[in-house]
Order: sequence, then structure tokens, then C-alpha cells
Amino acid sequence: MSINLQFDRDHIWHPYTSMLDPLPVYPVVAAHGCELELENGQKLIDGTASWWSAVHGYNHPLLNAAVTEQLSKMAHVMFGGITHPSAINLCQRLLAMVPNNLTKVFLADSGSIAVEVAIKMALQYWQGIATKSSKQKLISLRKGYHGDTFAAMAVCDPVDGMHGMFNDVLAQHYFLPAPELKTESDIASECFNRFDPSAMLPLQQLLQEQHTQIAALIVEPIVQGYGGMRFYHPEYLKAARALCDKYDVLLICDEIATGFGRTGKLFACEHAQIQPDIMCVGKALSGGYITLAATLCSDEVANGISLSDAKGLMHGPTFMANPLACAVATASLDIIATGKWQQQVAAIEQQLKRELAPCQGVAGVKDVRVLGAIGVLEMAEKVDVAKLQQRFVELGVWIRPFNNLIYVMPPFIISAAQLSQLTAAMYTVITEH
Ligand SMILES: *Cc1c(COP(=O)(O)O)cnc(C)c1O
Repeated sequence: MSINLQFDRDHIWHPYTSMLDPLPVYPVVAAHGCELELENGQKLIDGTASWWSAVHGYNHPLLNAAVTEQLSKMAHVMFGGITHPSAINLCQRLLAMVPNNLTKVFLADSGSIAVEVAIKMALQYWQGIATKSSKQKLISLRKGYHGDTFAAMAVCDPVDGMHGMFNDVLAQHYFLPAPELKTESDIASECFNRFDPSAMLPLQQLLQEQHTQIAALIVEPIVQGYGGMRFYHPEYLKAARALCDKYDVLLICDEIATGFGRTGKLFACEHAQIQPDIMCVGKALSGGYITLAATLCSDEVANGISLSDAKGLMHGPTFMANPLACAVATASLDIIATGKWQQQVAAIEQQLKRELAPCQGVAGVKDVRVLGAIGVLEMAEKVDVAKLQQRFVELGVWIRPFNNLIYVMPPFIISAAQLSQLTAAMYTVITEH
């Protein structure tokens, strides 16, 4: 039976699109390894890992087995007053991986919710530490992205994000200039001496003046994702951590995009050798199978929250700790724990650097940058997404540009030949117009 694209077009929203004039969608009927299969049988090499999530590829035998085995026991059960092996197994594995000051896990149902919970934790912590605490604002960075729900939107870039549209209802927070863009060589060489410490002045000044109002600084460590695929200096993060300590402000690291090896470290905060007070993970957590995220915090934060009037953390989604999601995430983390991702990501990084280098200098290309398994072409102008998308499909690859960015973050299991097809397609599209 053929897919009813007309029905889709008439009735189903897709991400960030108009219902009246939607961008075309491509019907996918199956996915295996690094390939998506279209309805017409065409296979596309996947350069997106379905938005950073499918790091082990599609239809993975171990992940499939984990879901199937769990399904035969129970698909779901409420988490209020109940626990189950799936959740415990997952949280044990997670805590063994994250920075070791993080000891408590809240299982959330999506990345945006994990960010909401992180913000709630920070606010409730200060209320617990001091009655009538005035620490109710956050600091965020320009070009930051933290999700689409309201508290998360309020810490997204205030100009490029959705602030304009929702200004009257969004909480008002403080924003700092986006950290300066760093080339991949600065990060890879881990040589910090090119960092200009004056970059910290805006944060230093804001904290000095307003720290009694500020609960937390929230950042995407090292890689700002949807706000521009920007890589910044580890020393910035290191200095931000020190300033947060000095002024009694919590640090929230949103590792939803960067976690589980994508940047070449298990977590991006390791580039700066820092530990956050609160950390969000999502996307790759469940290997791209089922929506799942988590917010982790330190003993100190958890203790503060338990002193607040509510005593408990005031959040509890219906599908919290869904056993199917936890089972597949456990299997995904077991694959991560083998450490194989290190060679895979290092090889992808080398190959992306080599094969995207010729794009530098092509007319219309503003910057080429690579970090871990992320390869970015920043164009001088916004690209025609529908047109490029169609061209990529003709070239046999799935790459989805946005704004002025053409980028790949493939599954870690991608072969060298498949990756070459992605980079060749990128080179082709930028040299065509
Ligand atoms: C994707 C993303 C989110 C939101 O996650 P969802 O699961 O889409 O709600 C939050 N923060 C960062 C850094 C992300 O990349």
C-alpha cells in the first residue's frame, strides 16, 4: 500500500513548518544501519543520526532485542510508588559514566522536559537553601538552544529563538554574548593559550552585579547546536565554572546534543575538565529508539531541594521512566561502555577534516569546521532547504540543512565509504549554484 502523502500534507504538522505551505516530506518505510529506505526503494545514507540520536545506526540487533525482551514483560507501568529493573539498570549505567559528582537521576520524557526539570531543580535548590531566596533568574548564552517548551524557550537565543513571538509570557532571564567561535584545531590540540580571558568579562560583570538574583548559568558545553553549530573554547567553560563557584551560582550543562561521545569526549564538559551541578542528557541516550532524557544533579543540589517547602522535586510525567525506553537506553549505554565509539568518532573526525577541507574557499562558504563526529559548512547566506534537500536525495544521502548551515552528524557506525558519499554530496551541492 502506498503512503498517503496527501493526507500527511493536509492534516499532520511536521517540525517547524507551515500547515498551509509545508516543505516537502520524504516517505521512509524502513531503516537499517546507516541507511534510510524510501518508499520507492531508494536507499539514502544518513548524515543526521535522526537529530543526533541514532548513534548506533538503525535497526540494531542488540537494541531491537532489548525492546522486544522488555515488551514481553511490560510496556509501561507508572513510576509513582513503583520501580522496575529497567529504570534501575539504566540509572546505574548512567551514573557510572557521568562526572562523578552527579549522583541523582530524574528520568524525563524528552530533552525539553529535562531542561524544564533542570531549571526547576536550580530554583527549588535556592529556595531550600534560604527562605525567600531572591535567586530566581538564569543566565544563558546568545546562540544557545535548549528546547521548545516555555521554560526552555526562555533560555534560548532571544533574537534567533522564539522570544519575539512569546515575549509577554516568557520568563525574562539574562543573556551573555555568544562565546567566540573557535576553529577545531584550538579544541583538538587542547592548547588553551589562544583563549582571550577578556571573553569572560560580561559574565564576570553580570555575576558581580546580579548574583543575588541568579540561580544558575545554563550552557551547551563546547558545542552550541541549533543556535548555529558553533564550537567554542574549553577555557570559556572552565572559566565559567570558576565564576559560578565564586558567585554561588549553579552550573547547568545541557549535554542533550553533545553527550555520549559525539564531540570526541564521552561528555563535552570533559573537554574543559569541569563538573556541572546539574546535567541534562537526551537524544543519543536511547540510541534513537524511543523518546527519553534525564536530568542529573549532585548530592548538594538534591539536599538543597529536600529542604525546600515542597521537599520533593515537583515533577512527575505520566510516562516517567518508561520501561521500554529505559531498556533500550540500557542496551545503548552498554554499547557506549565498550568504548568502541572512541575509535569510531576519531576516525570520523579525521575523515571529515580531510574531506571537507576542499569546501573551504568555495564561493559562498563562510566557514568549515569539524569537531568529533560533527562536520559543518557555514554558508554566507541562508540556503534553500527544499531545493538542497531534493538535491541531496538525488545524490543518495540524507542531509538536512537549516538557515545557513549544511552539516552532518552521522551514526558512529558509518563506514568510510558511506561517509565519503556524504562529504562528496556536500561538496557537490555547494559548487553547483
Ligand atoms: C534537542 C535539544 C533539546 C531538546 O530536546 P527534545 O528532545 O527535542 O525536547 C534541548 N537541548 C539541546 C542542546 C538540544 O540539542
